[in-house]
Amino acid sequence: MSDIVLEEIFIKRSQQKKKTSPLNFKERWFILTQEKISYYDYDADKMKRKGFKGSVDLEKIKCVEIVQPEMGAPLERSFPFQIIYDEGPLYIFARNEDIRAQWIDTLKQMVHHNKDRMQKYHPCFWVDGMWLCCQQEVKQAMGCKVLDGKNGTSQRRKPRVREKPLPPTPTEEKVARPLPPEPAEPSGLSVGMTVRAEYDYSPITAQDLQLKKNGEYTILEMSDPNWWKARDQLGNEGYIPSNYVVEAKTGLEQYDWYCKNMNRSQAEALLKSENKDGGFLVRDSSKAGKYTVSLFSKGGGETQGSCKHYNICTSSQGQFYLAEKHNFNTIPELITYHQHNAAGMVSRLKYIISNRAQPPSTAGLGYGVWEIDPRYLTFIKELGNGQFGVVKYGKLRGQNDVAIKMIKEGSMSEDDFIEEAKIMMKLRHENLVQLYGVCTKQRPIYIVTEYLSNGCLLTYLKEGLTQHPTTVQLLEMCKDVTEGMAYLESKQYLHRDLAARNCLVDSNGTVKVTDFGLSRYVLDDEYTSSEGSKFPVRWSPPEVLLYCKFSSKSDIWAYGVLMWEVYTLGRLPYERLNNTEIVDQVPRGLRLYRPQLANERVYSIMTSCWQEKADERPSFQELGLLGKVCGQTRPQAGHKD
Ligand code: ADP
Ligand code: MG
Repeated sequence: MSDIVLEEIFIKRSQQKKKTSPLNFKERWFILTQEKISYYDYDADKMKRKGFKGSVDLEKIKCVEIVQPEMGAPLERSFPFQIIYDEGPLYIFARNEDIRAQWIDTLKQMVHHNKDRMQKYHPCFWVDGMWLCCQQEVKQAMGCKVLDGKNGTSQRRKPRVREKPLPPTPTEEKVARPLPPEPAEPSGLSVGMTVRAEYDYSPITAQDLQLKKNGEYTILEMSDPNWWKARDQLGNEGYIPSNYVVEAKTGLEQYDWYCKNMNRSQAEALLKSENKDGGFLVRDSSKAGKYTVSLFSKGGGETQGSCKHYNICTSSQGQFYLAEKHNFNTIPELITYHQHNAAGMVSRLKYIISNRAQPPSTAGLGYGVWEIDPRYLTFIKELGNGQFGVVKYGKLRGQNDVAIKMIKEGSMSEDDFIEEAKIMMKLRHENLVQLYGVCTKQRPIYIVTEYLSNGCLLTYLKEGLTQHPTTVQLLEMCKDVTEGMAYLESKQYLHRDLAARNCLVDSNGTVKVTDFGLSRYVLDDEYTSSEGSKFPVRWSPPEVLLYCKFSSKSDIWAYGVLMWEVYTLGRLPYERLNNTEIVDQVPRGLRLYRPQLANERVYSIMTSCWQEKADERPSFQELGLLGKVCGQTRPQAGHKD
């Protein structure tokens, strides 16, 4: 290979693409070229490269960053870094800090122009089904830490092995908020001063101090420009990101009634436009360091209303007062008093009038938590066509992968669905496809959900995407569905259309249930009427076929059929029969045969779901336990990826 950029022996952590694969650490010979990073087995005695083990195309890399070493990690695993690409993170351990920094810097330069680069990542490992940094249990969970370095390259580490400041974006809703500025060089702050937090900060390491927005902290040490040592009001000490705090000079900024940089005529214009008797604000006075209360009043039968301006005076003892001599130690105390007492003014201070720009709350989405502003969506490609029309893959705010169902007009009872979406939003389980929100202010309306890169389970099974899946994998798929369904059952929520076509597969092979409850909003007789050609006759128990009686036990029946689909790798149930024959024969006792890949034990679970009497069928919760019994032969049950 002529174009080798870097070459090194590293320890590589197994990637555990399958849930059941064990975690291990192996030495590999890594070679970085302009196109890819490849790793090989090698002969340690002869220092010779042997068999090729794997590679990652550079163009697929989304992020390269260090990882915080695990607690108690052995010495040789003290300098980990991660290469994140579409199949998740590849964890690599360098021998020392310099080698790690060299690789990270080089890789960052090389992938700098990649289009899918991530803005957030997980600073700690994914271990045993959890991100150690944020305790999220979904492998695809969005990173909890925003990348630093606008140019995409890391700075050489300072002596302290810390990252640059952690920006305030652990939750969705803060994503759209501008990041706090880089720490200003001469901040005018010094040790001993009191600062006020502009953002919440949750500690990542034990040395950090938690910040609460608007809380006050005393600076104890400023030797690192990015991380200051501080003390909170309870006496706790620790490091805080320096760009999260501002000088708590007056502290008035935290009050909505304080309109900094507003002059007299602007205040009058604002108060008049609000036209509220008793509307007020506090602004800087024309005299430096002084403040003025501007108050709008309609007193005395005036229809127009007028503004009065009261200077906040300081007594000889340094206390504050307004029109009369009611003295207070602080301005906020004075305002609170006058919110209840006119005490010499034309009116008490009834309404706060604020010029504060509202923070772009709920991610600047506007209308409500379930409503997504369609301007935040980018459409990337078409995924398929369903009952409601086209489904597209896209990005939400340029970051999160999403699937967008564009609801064909006339295909859905929209108002009812929009009501239901509020409930659906609250259903959260790692085996349910998450509903992120809806766009209902335009037509067609959109349903925005989690995106699963391996698509529909039925296709996944049929097209052999798993390449000779083992029975362990098949059982694992069923188990995923059981868990999602047991959650729905616990919420007394019926699916009504459970089938392999309504399950999706993520990049790890995890199966998630989708489209729960959606069938109720379909406007299509072919689908909703049990005689219709699109009605899921093959997944329906006798009581649904005969009298449309849906219950959690009809979901269980459908689950048995889904298991059968899984174990036949996606065959059509009752292949040779048409719908009329099925409606006729299933109530008379016809059942699906045992698939070759299913052993007696697995088949007995399916048949238990197809009991004639609904109440003799198990619940999903019970099925979960049965699955555990069947799964006892699974290797490495303890090593869940
Ligand atoms: P509908 O429910 O409207 O009938 P589907 O949910 O079946 O539509 O979607 C049609 C196709 O789009 C599916 O077969 C699947 O391939 C793809 N798809 C739908 N939702 C997602 C998703 N969240 N992630 C990935 N692919 C999806
Ligand atoms: Mg569907």
